[in-house]
Amino acid sequence: MTSGTAKTNVLIAGGGIIGSAVAWALATRGVSDVAVVDLDLAGLYASSELNAGGARATWWQTVNVQTCASTLDFFRQHQDTFSFEERGYLWLYANPQLFEVAKKKREMQNGFGLGVEVLAPHEVVERFPVLDTDPTRLVGATFSPHDGLVNPNAVRQWFRHQAESLGVRFLNRHYVSGVSTARQPGSKRRVDWVEVTEIAGRDPMDQQGSIRDILTTHVVSPDLVESQQRIDCELIVNCLGAWSPLFSAKVGIGDVTEPTRRQICMLSVQHEDAMQIEQLLSLGMVVDASDLYFHPEGKHILAGYSIPQEAPGFDFHYDGESFFMEHVWPRLGECSSLFERCKHVRGWAGLYAVTPDRSGIAGPVAGFTNLFEAHSFTGRGVMQSYGIATELAQWIDSGKPSGQIAVLNRNRFADRDKWLVEDLHI
Ligand SMILES: Cc1cc2nc3c(=O)[nH]c(=O)nc-3n(C[C@H](O)[C@H](O)[C@H](O)COP(=O)(O)OP(=O)(O)OC[C@H]3O[C@@H](n4cnc5c(N)ncnc54)[C@H](O)[C@@H]3O)c2cc1C
Repeated sequence: MTSGTAKTNVLIAGGGIIGSAVAWALATRGVSDVAVVDLDLAGLYASSELNAGGARATWWQTVNVQTCASTLDFFRQHQDTFSFEERGYLWLYANPQLFEVAKKKREMQNGFGLGVEVLAPHEVVERFPVLDTDPTRLVGATFSPHDGLVNPNAVRQWFRHQAESLGVRFLNRHYVSGVSTARQPGSKRRVDWVEVTEIAGRDPMDQQGSIRDILTTHVVSPDLVESQQRIDCELIVNCLGAWSPLFSAKVGIGDVTEPTRRQICMLSVQHEDAMQIEQLLSLGMVVDASDLYFHPEGKHILAGYSIPQEAPGFDFHYDGESFFMEHVWPRLGECSSLFERCKHVRGWAGLYAVTPDRSGIAGPVAGFTNLFEAHSFTGRGVMQSYGIATELAQWIDSGKPSGQIAVLNRNRFADRDKWLVEDLHI
């Protein structure tokens, strides 16, 4: 094993969509000597590779609407590269209280040009005939025509390649294994260096197992260590997604984020009427009143459901057929008779980084002179990536917050009145 010391101006821990976007946004502002470290840049277990590709700006908190709206504008500008399709989000409600809040929030959302419509139950069936089940189970729906679907891997790759072309270094198989901080005059602390362990290159099959082991146990077995180095940095940004609390713990911050498993499955639908199938495959995102969501994915349907009693943890196990049969299929049947004949094809599990109010955490970390963070975007990290990254980069570069993201500071959790509660959390 070799060891040594290296130096960089800005070190970004985590090269998922958020770390890559922040690196790109800093580089476009002319910030030099930026490095991104990640255990696995291919992202086998990264949320950025395992998500549903939904992109909406229709949230209940203004900061989330604003940052998602600017991200969707950015997706629109690169529509072909990111396969962004403005197919809309149809949100079905059975709970009258929730529907009332949704209607009230519409005014704020439409202030951002989202054009959200309210639909009565019978209008849902008239407008989307393929959703042909009993409309009386619903109290209403909202339809946001400018939301849609995106290819998250293409977005992440774009941020990375653009950042690389501006000189950012991406270090693969580099695991952040330690952090050293020092007290500064006054009461603040500074991150002096980060210990990074380089994992030996193995064949891809071996690597998958070892990456999974490290990302679930947080221990690197000595036989996997290629080298270890200390990276001195002027500034560090924690973009470790569901793993961000482990970094926070290393610098003595008690965290609020919980990594929580979310499962997704793909299914195929059989029907002799090709028109019906075409109608189904032309839908955008549908979120049922039961919290199940689905959208077409090529010739298949992608469906996701969050099991309410899911315990936090680094769990990537996919429950397979039983997830489909128990949680997905019965709920799909509530939405359309077409789902009577459908077949489970495959599925997977990834991690949400969940906060108590289900909004993300971004900004400088209080008590530190040179530590920033951007993580814990629950089910929103792709659709919020550009908005968060550009605002955070401006904050880092100019020393002042821009837009609204100051409210995403972690200090809000100490005061319940400052929580940014998002109830439309799927
Ligand atoms: C099933 C599912 C569905 C989702 N659906 C959507 C959706 O439709 N739309 C949407 O916008 N969002 C969705 N999300 C959420 C979205 O995917 C995440 O918010 C987003 O990808 C988070 O990006 P990130 O860069 O913060 O984290 P990640 O992509 O998880 O990146 C974190 C990186 O840190 C690395 N890492 C971890 N520990 C270390 C360490 N110690 N040292 C070095 N590297 C380390 C990992 O290898 C990983 O690459 C979904 C998520 C899941 C799981």
